[in-house]
Amino acid sequence: MTDVFTKKKRSEVMSLIKSRNTKPELFVRSFLHKKGYRFRLHQKNLPGKPDIVLKKYKTIINVNGCFWHHHQCGKYKLPKTNKKFWLSKLTNNRKRDLINNKKLKKLGWKVYNNWECRLTMKHLDNLLKKLSVI
Ligand SMILES: [Zn+2]
Repeated sequence: MTDVFTKKKRSEVMSLIKSRNTKPELFVRSFLHKKGYRFRLHQKNLPGKPDIVLKKYKTIINVNGCFWHHHQCGKYKLPKTNKKFWLSKLTNNRKRDLINNKKLKKLGWKVYNNWECRLTMKHLDNLLKKLSVI
């Protein structure tokens, strides 16, 4: 089956699926901010430049887009062209996530990974409960 987009158009479309400062990430950030939490973003000196860093709680909150982090939830389909390329790219992203999580835990950080497709207010409330018992 051929792609509905040309190669050039497809790469434009794909570039619109951002990996940083995504909507779900902004949602979590504004939620935490309203609750009075202060945090740093994409801290470069930590493995994987985690999305949200709550230093006071030694806690990392990642908001994983289902596409880029290769979630097996069926929310995204692989692009029809360059399927092999995308599959290996996204699989590598996922592997890198897992390695970075391990590294962060070794450094003493608590890591909470949140999938874009499971992001609800209830989910975030539960996350805050975990923070408050630290
Ligand atoms: Zn998902």
